[in-house]
Amino acid sequence: SKKQRIDKVLSHMGIGSRSDIRKQAKQGLIRVNGTVIKDSGFHVDPYADLIEVSGEPVLYREYIYLMMNKPPGVLSATEDKRDRTVLDLLKPEYAQFEPFPVGRLDKDTVGLLLLTNDGQLAHELLSPRKHVPKTYEATVEGEVDAADVAAFAAGVELEDGYVTLPAQLTILGRERGSKTLSQISLTITEGKFHQVKRMFLAVGKKVVFLKRVSMGALKLDELLAPGACRELTAEELRVLG
Ligand code: URA
Repeated sequence: SKKQRIDKVLSHMGIGSRSDIRKQAKQGLIRVNGTVIKDSGFHVDPYADLIEVSGEPVLYREYIYLMMNKPPGVLSATEDKRDRTVLDLLKPEYAQFEPFPVGRLDKDTVGLLLLTNDGQLAHELLSPRKHVPKTYEATVEGEVDAADVAAFAAGVELEDGYVTLPAQLTILGRERGSKTLSQISLTITEGKFHQVKRMFLAVGKKVVFLKRVSMGALKLDELLAPGACRELTAEELRVLG
């Protein structure tokens, strides 16, 4: 197994910055396998060695897997000059793991966003060859009808000439006011830029609200407040991977 500097291990676990840890080590607060370690450059195997800070054992893990209910108005990017990003919403105890969003939702899109620092899992979920299904619920202006369902099942041609893979469109309901609105659910197995909005534009309709509700076997926990996140359960992680 791999050895790493103890200050790196402890800062990954949110104990403090590297310089905080240097001070704690100097003060004799850090023990490895029962021995006080005063050098914060000391190498440890974080899985095999017993590391204690002020007498408290530190349980090491490398990866974190978070489900966020993305609110509107924030970017699913890691940084931006002007706008807030989903990373700005993370509690420090999650942010310390340096997770990043798996794929993108538009600024105005809400719902399920997975964040992780596990590059391998992210890669697998995003791989175009894997065709991981993503289900969205949307409010669309106008009457989404059986012709649209058939068109999406066959594939629609986007404005750039790309023809989408078969997608499953379900009409959930309609609201008739001054403007008719349709509530729909749509499952796609690819992730082109603005795909859902562009598919509706291809049939002459406008998406006015968009929410992702699932990605692969992972479903949005509807108890999560907008902007909040929680770790995936062991079961969620199992079905996802
Ligand atoms: N399709 C879109 O148009 N926007 C999203 O955010 C996700 C899918």
